[in-house]
Amino acid sequence: MADDILTRLPSHLVAEAKSLDAADPLAAYREQFVLPEGVVAYLDGNSLGRPLAATRNRLPQFVDDEWGERLIRAWDESWMELPLQLGDRIGRVALDAAPGQTTVADSTTVLLYKLTRAAVAARPGRSRIVADTENFPTDRYIVQGVAAELGMTIDWIEPDPSTGVTVTDVREKVSADTALVLLSHVAYKSAHIADLAGITAVVHDAGALVLWDLCHSVGLVPVGLDAAGVDLAVGCTYKYLNGGPGAPAFAYVAKDLQDSLVQPITGWMGHAEPFTMGPAYLPAEGMRRFISGTPPILGMLPMQDMLDLVEEAGVEAIREKSIRLTEFVADVADAALAPLGVTVASPREPQVRGGHVTLEHDAMQAAIARLWQRGVIPDFRRPRGLRAGLSPLSTSFVEVATALAHLHEILNEHEG
Ligand SMILES: *Cc1c(COP(=O)(O)O)cnc(C)c1O
Repeated sequence: MADDILTRLPSHLVAEAKSLDAADPLAAYREQFVLPEGVVAYLDGNSLGRPLAATRNRLPQFVDDEWGERLIRAWDESWMELPLQLGDRIGRVALDAAPGQTTVADSTTVLLYKLTRAAVAARPGRSRIVADTENFPTDRYIVQGVAAELGMTIDWIEPDPSTGVTVTDVREKVSADTALVLLSHVAYKSAHIADLAGITAVVHDAGALVLWDLCHSVGLVPVGLDAAGVDLAVGCTYKYLNGGPGAPAFAYVAKDLQDSLVQPITGWMGHAEPFTMGPAYLPAEGMRRFISGTPPILGMLPMQDMLDLVEEAGVEAIREKSIRLTEFVADVADAALAPLGVTVASPREPQVRGGHVTLEHDAMQAAIARLWQRGVIPDFRRPRGLRAGLSPLSTSFVEVATALAHLHEILNEHEG
């Protein structure tokens, strides 16, 4: 059945998919995910990672043992520390960050607000924020909201579609009046990887702070936060960390900055002594001050199963497979889909390409609706993009070939 559809692709590419799977040192991880038969191919692991089979056990166990049995005692026994412990683990496994600089807390959106607001307050007298027009909507909206709240000006970078945001773009925008630069490490549409270390250095030369959005890099691309001297970062856990829908995000704040930043949602859980319930807010030392209210413990469960895998496999090896996967998509697109009018709208150079490849075609929106009916699930990006997000530990090369063979069949019918 699956092999039938594969005959739509040149046979050397099908053979290549099979031999890439056979030679893939990470291939066995795929079996650890929940793989229902109705899902023929999943190319959206960068929007919502698949669940792990281990999560099936973790959730009911939590209900019985921790919540059911320990009840409120579990706050003292483990839950109070969980956001910081899990943050440290994400830092160690995926961010190259020393302990004490990362916490799991709210959604990415809320954390972007908290860190943006705290950062501009830490640069009094500076009235400008640099951001880019190609960033994810929430990132742009948060910057707009903070700028409106404080009467600040936004200097928008309009990145060249063929390069993404560059060091030069940032150098041209920053000045002695820049408080903060907010950018994504991996661009959510094009998949361009920004030069995180180079841009961070340019921002620092101007005396500003940098806030990196790592949603499309955490668990996929080595990030090197400490080595690059990054000030602030946030990232999702439901994408390549498979934390499940609405899993809480993480925030990273460099050690030497923490005690000089005050975030704006000054809730009791970020207080130096939450249980004294005193009259006035006094921020905790260290990362706890970036927590606001009661942490979403339930949402922190599934990501722990994925972190086990990422830790075991290692981000370097995951990145290597990711490059092979995206390279394979580009190869199939060039050989089999280009004749049908499909173009590749992601970087050709693997070193600057993240974990997804965007393919464009005028009939893509309708084609994707039909792919979904067949259990082939990529993402649609307006106006004409199919975003193939390839989560390395849960995606096989034959799965990718199968998805693109279905796309070929559908676009071919459309042509005919
Ligand atoms: C996915 C994503 C988000 C999502 O933010 P939420 O608060 O989880 O909805 C934000 N920024 C970027 C760059 C993303 O890719």
